[in-house]
Amino acid sequence: MPKCTICDKELNGSQRRYCKGTCTQRGNAETQRVSDHRTISLGLGLRATLVIDEWLAHLRYFQWMCAYCQKRPATDIDHFIPPGYEGGTTASNCVPCCNPCNTAKSSYHPERKSSHVDGIPSKAQASA
Ligand SMILES: [Zn+2]
Ligand SMILES: [Zn+2]
Repeated sequence: MPKCTICDKELNGSQRRYCKGTCTQRGNAETQRVSDHRTISLGLGLRATLVIDEWLAHLRYFQWMCAYCQKRPATDIDHFIPPGYEGGTTASNCVPCCNPCNTAKSSYHPERKSSHVDGIPSKAQASA
């Protein structure tokens, strides 16, 4: 039985990646988000290799929460190395984040704004 990529529930015959309702909406929204970020990176001449399955794996790893504060739900993709420092939209450079953390980190390089990334779990750091 295939399972929902988002909630792990078993899918019935008519369902493919996600179960109906919330998971489908969430999945489609994340697909759109990944696609938007890839377009922006390509426009800047940066790498853009992130695919939706990699992104969903990140979201699941962080339990759909912000990787920085781990208190609020992730609502955006943060580029760990900002595009201004040639950070592309790649699996190793993208972490889930909430709006306040994204705004706080802004476009600073993480080393220059380290107080805002102290909370980032080791997996994201190791693969960055
Ligand atoms: Zn589901
Ligand atoms: Zn946050």
